[in-house]
Amino acid sequence: MTAVAPARPSDDLVAVGRSTMSTTYNPQPIILQDGRGVRVRDRDGRQYLDFLAGIAVCALGHGHPTLVQRLTEQLQRGVTHVSNGFFTEPQILLQERLVQRSFADRVFLCNSGTEANEAAIKLARRYQRVVRGTPRFEIITFDASFHGRTYGALSATAQPKYHAGFEPMVPGFVHATFNDIDSVRARVGAHTAAIMLEVVQGEGGVRPADPAFLRAVRELCDEQGLLLIVDEVQTGIGRTGEWFAYQHSGVTPDIMTLAKGLGGGVPVGAMVATDEIFRGFERGSHATTFGGNPLATTAALAVLDVIEDEGLLANVSAMARHFETRIDELRARQSRILETRGLGLLRGVVIDGTADDALRIVSAARQRGLLMNTAGGNVLRFVPPLTITAQDIDEAVAIVEAAIDEALPR
Ligand SMILES: *Cc1c(COP(=O)(O)O)cnc(C)c1O
Repeated sequence: MTAVAPARPSDDLVAVGRSTMSTTYNPQPIILQDGRGVRVRDRDGRQYLDFLAGIAVCALGHGHPTLVQRLTEQLQRGVTHVSNGFFTEPQILLQERLVQRSFADRVFLCNSGTEANEAAIKLARRYQRVVRGTPRFEIITFDASFHGRTYGALSATAQPKYHAGFEPMVPGFVHATFNDIDSVRARVGAHTAAIMLEVVQGEGGVRPADPAFLRAVRELCDEQGLLLIVDEVQTGIGRTGEWFAYQHSGVTPDIMTLAKGLGGGVPVGAMVATDEIFRGFERGSHATTFGGNPLATTAALAVLDVIEDEGLLANVSAMARHFETRIDELRARQSRILETRGLGLLRGVVIDGTADDALRIVSAARQRGLLMNTAGGNVLRFVPPLTITAQDIDEAVAIVEAAIDEALPR
């Protein structure tokens, strides 16, 4: 990697970026340009250890040779899109692979997490209506959940700050308390169609579901004829050390959604379910133009191949333990760390301080060469590539320590 002197100063470009960008965003003031593995570089040649990985998206890190090669080959074939009116080989192979690795029999391919969740919500409602002939349409979701920004997924997201000013929400979503089965039972009624949850709440602050809670939810679903939808947009595809986070608990959902890590950086999402549940859709019930395109599905297949070939599920489990050990050691020295939690390489470090304090730590870490972000206010979130090494973790934790000392002087 050789740095070329930029033609326009980065500060100027950042200013243009800020003034032309949607008012919804506030990026850190660096322009990322190239990367290899767990490291990325900005256009001024500064290098960063990337423990954010595009928010749990770049599962293989940056520039993984297999991903680059497969995508290049697919581009060179000249076919990047054919519509859902035709098959392509990577689309077929991806569907087959997702079915082999999960409980599901069928796959609806799309382009993002929110879109996968919209498909899940529509399928659950239509299955209850059309296949079972019930009047059920309500979906129970959980406080601090995050399911996306389009109206259905946003209505499922039980966080008032994301609804503010956008009301009215889509009717038919009721909210219960995470890890509290009594609160769920209290909300089940004649119109309840499904329960939808994240196995680890990601954006809400890296909060894992208790395995006992998940089992109780599954029992409740079976008892009441409800569908269980797991949103594995952040936890799926190896992030937690299993292919899917539901596999840790032994609880099998009826519908699962995927996106983030699935394409290793290329936008692709999926909603998967059993044959039985897919009876809820028929030809024309639902569609998306770009879904299953050969470029996105080639990327996803490459990600699945590399996870298998490089034994990354085992690496995630081992590196999660190493990270936890290092953070525990740090917590013994640094009283501003209250708690650490998570599953696999989706880890949260809870800071004794405000959301602004946490953001100051993120900024100090970036200046010291580490990328991460916050989730749910005062929680530092770490979602590094699944390929990281113990040495990367040691380096990152040393930077976190220095960043906390700098941002929150004792
Ligand atoms: C990121 C995320 C989404 C939304 O995905 P987009 O691709 O941004 O639409 C949905 N659910 C969970 C659990 C997520 O982490």
